[in-house]
Amino acid sequence: MVEGGRIDWAGHVNDAATSVREVQGFDQAVEVAASFYQKHSTETLVIVTADHETGGMSVDQNAFRPDLLSGQAVSYERFILILKSFEKFGTLIMAEVEKEQNAIEKSYTRSWQGEKSGGYDPFLVFLLHLRDEQAGIAWTTHGHSTVKVPVYALGVDADLFAGVQDNTDIFRVIRKIIAGGGETVEATNK
Ligand SMILES: [Zn+2]
Repeated sequence: MVEGGRIDWAGHVNDAATSVREVQGFDQAVEVAASFYQKHSTETLVIVTADHETGGMSVDQNAFRPDLLSGQAVSYERFILILKSFEKFGTLIMAEVEKEQNAIEKSYTRSWQGEKSGGYDPFLVFLLHLRDEQAGIAWTTHGHSTVKVPVYALGVDADLFAGVQDNTDIFRVIRKIIAGGGETVEATNK
């Protein structure tokens, strides 16, 4: 089992650029599994899914500006680690960044103090939200959302993973495939 766990982390912070990069990394891991399937197609089943979405991220198709995301050099998590590694100098860097607060608030006519930051650094989350809004991306929460997540399958009995499925049924279907050697299994569609 391979988990692209930091997609969730990026969702919690509401860091769209990192979310995209982590999904790209996850995609590369899926490619490795898919090429394994190509070599062992009679005995391999690849299932790709998630246990939930994080952040309630949505993209405005007409306003989407992915080019604005590419300007972000590091993730929020990495940036915090870099600041900590500089110790006192890190605090000075943040003080310099926050000196820009007035100018930023003035140009966007918005205050960072009212921003929901989910326990993360409120000013950094404010900056992420501003940038993501310009890129046509909106967030609804710093927690897990109720958005439905897809399930994709490739290989032996892949057709048993289709439509809308209860996530707890995925375990039951896998168990029956392993026990029954590929006999037909009824998935619960809801
Ligand atoms: Zn989470």
